[in-house]
Amino acid sequence: MVAENEVSNWLTEYDRDELVIATLCSHTSLQIFDGAKKEGFKTLGISVGPPAKFYDAFPKGKPDEFFVVDNHSDIPEKAEDLRQRNVILIPHGSFVEYLGPDNFEKLQVPTFGNRKVLRWESSRIKEREWLESAGIEMPQLFKEPEQIDRPVVVKFDGAKGGRGFFIVKNYREFEKVNPTQRYTIQEYVLGTRYYLHYFYSPIKEDGYKLSKGILELLSIDRRDETNIDEMYKLGSQEELKKLSIYPSFVVTGNVPLTIRESLLAEVFDMGEKVVEKSFELFGGIIGPFCLETIVNDELQFKVFEVSARIVAGTNPFISGSPYSEFLESNLSTGRRIAQEINMANEMDRLDEILS
Ligand code: ATP
Repeated sequence: MVAENEVSNWLTEYDRDELVIATLCSHTSLQIFDGAKKEGFKTLGISVGPPAKFYDAFPKGKPDEFFVVDNHSDIPEKAEDLRQRNVILIPHGSFVEYLGPDNFEKLQVPTFGNRKVLRWESSRIKEREWLESAGIEMPQLFKEPEQIDRPVVVKFDGAKGGRGFFIVKNYREFEKVNPTQRYTIQEYVLGTRYYLHYFYSPIKEDGYKLSKGILELLSIDRRDETNIDEMYKLGSQEELKKLSIYPSFVVTGNVPLTIRESLLAEVFDMGEKVVEKSFELFGGIIGPFCLETIVNDELQFKVFEVSARIVAGTNPFISGSPYSEFLESNLSTGRRIAQEINMANEMDRLDEILS
């Protein structure tokens, strides 16, 4: 963990007119670089091995410079070098995942957002504690497999990107899965999925006000998940099981969405509760976060996950979304992050949005 006043110490050495926005070349990096450049920043792409050639195909999304390392595990030892370049790191899903939350937490480079959130979202138990204590409805948890009385998802610990999930409808089916790893069992919520992309600013004052700062809704998407989204074309799941074909939830892309306008009040209410609780639990979430939700036919939301940073579901919105358009044209989440850094820099409040 980086000590409380460490970031302020690092910043005293920074040339604040020459801040550089850097991230790992993956996930949402095109959007982060494009947004940073639009806000006047220099950009640095941390590449493991030679930079991917596709950056040449997207000049506006290509970083001004690459910083090449051999392995993800080499990044922590480059911290001083990065600080000398006035770097502010932007975390994204792959960056945290490849480095591991423990290593990411300790990186000795100013990082956008509050790294204390990592402990709360990298464990399914802590995540549930946070969301439920905030008053958020989550899919019901089954402590013992014998209690299964409806369709459930069995999620193995460490399963990522939707791999390693099983849907079972009763205890008999669960026994056949015969899990050898640790798992959690969650009610399977039947409904439509909405991945809500919020942005919390502790320093902006105009907008949807919270006890401190404001909450924005930048976009909504749904993930394309293979093979669950397409398997109906081959027959029923029961039939396919006989051929040893089981549903998986591996994300391959993202589709932009809007939600019934009347549901927006609840969308904001949920975002507000999550942010307000985070102040109490770990000093507050900062910047982009996503609530992964399912809405049932009674128009009730269930939240099955929170991601406390920019997520790949924001990628369809490089030139804005039907929601960010009400804030400003061409506002991607990547660009909004850069704006927040600019704003905090101008107000001399960078230490409030970095950790
Ligand atoms: P990531 O870390 O990439 O977000 P993950 O492995 O943590 O993925 P989840 O996001 O929890 O997995 O879930 C993957 C997918 O499984 C969801 O996008 C959704 O389609 C489905 N899913 C998860 N939980 C439920 C649930 N309780 N009911 C119905 N579907 C669910």
